[in-house]
Amino acid sequence: MRMQDKVALISGGARGMGASHARMIVAEGGNVVIGDILDDEGESLAKELGADKAVYTRLDVTDYADWQNAVDLSVRTFGKLNVLVNNAGIVNMGSLTDYSIKEWDDIIAVNQTGPFLGIKAATPTLISSAPSSIINISSTAGFQGIAELHGYTASKFAVRGLTKSVALELAQHGVRSNSVHPGTVSTPMNADLDVADFNPMKRMGNVKEVSQLIIYLASNESSFVTGAEFLIDGGELAGMGPLSSK
Ligand code: NAD
Repeated sequence: MRMQDKVALISGGARGMGASHARMIVAEGGNVVIGDILDDEGESLAKELGADKAVYTRLDVTDYADWQNAVDLSVRTFGKLNVLVNNAGIVNMGSLTDYSIKEWDDIIAVNQTGPFLGIKAATPTLISSAPSSIINISSTAGFQGIAELHGYTASKFAVRGLTKSVALELAQHGVRSNSVHPGTVSTPMNADLDVADFNPMKRMGNVKEVSQLIIYLASNESSFVTGAEFLIDGGELAGMGPLSSK
């Protein structure tokens, strides 16, 4: 019951890591508003979790009005909102000559502007429902570049920075803000990519391994934690090697 008295809004909550976070939050006694553009998946997850525990709403993170509706829905349904998980994200890629300006604009809109709009829309309610927690899902690409992932790398670095400016402003109001940086985790996002042995553990992470960290950050267990970065990457960023001789 680590999430008792907590109400969480999860963007991109219909599948992948977001759906796992929704399931674990409910299992730990919390309520969730699942926001996504995948209506069928979102509705069926909310049904699975139960109408008294979860509700789905269409939330395109690039649309400020959708964010306002999602926050209002949380207050109407569960009386408050004290956890925001900015999880929705997309990936696209290409060499500098091939990567289009539209691809850049699209990914910045979802991965970078999306979390900002969510934080802006939710802030008054997070303050009135405090203690509250904002969790921004970045990536190991928020610490290191990935070749040909220009928009993804730039947006994930940006989310890491936004997390800190928000933490500094909202600490006085009882709202914490932290970033989570997963390595490769098995979800539909990277189903077509060859990323299985990116780390010294030589395996992809499981969504539940990330959800356990989300529960820690969302709950009052992390009450002295704000403005911080949480790597969960199987050692991907630990370093290089081994060195081989000539
Ligand atoms: P996923 O593709 O399974 O889930 C992403 C969700 O975001 C989907 O449900 C999708 O519909 C939703 N989404 C996309 N655009 C949206 C929009 N405009 N508005 C609302 N929802 C939208 O991928 P995932 O792996 O579960 O990704 C979750 C987060 O974790 C993303 O921010 C991703 O960048 C990050 N991440 C993933 C990995 C990984 O290896 N899977 C690694 C590091 C970081």
